[in-house]
Amino acid sequence: MNVLKGPLTFIPKIISGMCQDVIFYKTKNFGTRVNNEISLLVIHNISLPPKIFGDSYIERFFLNSLPVDKHPYFLEIQNLEVSSHFCIKRDGTVVQFVSCLDKAWHAGVSLYKGREKCNEFSIGIELEGADDIPYTDAQYQSLKYLTLSLRQSYPNIKDNITGHSNIAPTRKTDPGIAFDWERFWNSIK
Ligand SMILES: [Zn+2]
Repeated sequence: MNVLKGPLTFIPKIISGMCQDVIFYKTKNFGTRVNNEISLLVIHNISLPPKIFGDSYIERFFLNSLPVDKHPYFLEIQNLEVSSHFCIKRDGTVVQFVSCLDKAWHAGVSLYKGREKCNEFSIGIELEGADDIPYTDAQYQSLKYLTLSLRQSYPNIKDNITGHSNIAPTRKTDPGIAFDWERFWNSIK
């Protein structure tokens, strides 16, 4: 596999749930989709420690290997077993953790257009970031190409793309006010 650093510059292919030309770190935090029809894209943010960018702690969190001595916050979250299908780092680098064919654990208790348990039918993309800090151009670029790719492979996604805060409004605020939805929608027209 070619490991691509930095933003995507083309629409990557997805073969058997695996996005080609991006980094893949296999986590054990996933399950089998009960309903295999992928029909939603959920956009999130995460940063570890909060609002600190550039380390590999997100990756280590999803791989259950967070070094708890490095930051007090890590102690609070060390026993959570979570994941997303993709994370887009500040420099646009895309990392995949779970096959699109499997269920990542990103949405939690959630509701989209009357359907509960969004993990069952969604793809989760984490942007390395925080609610009130602008995302990078490189992230918007990678998100555009990744979204176009996912839509090609899973056409039922269509315009069913939303933020975590929209499917779990009492618990979650991500991707936050900093995420420019208009810019994103224009980029995938
Ligand atoms: Zn989230």
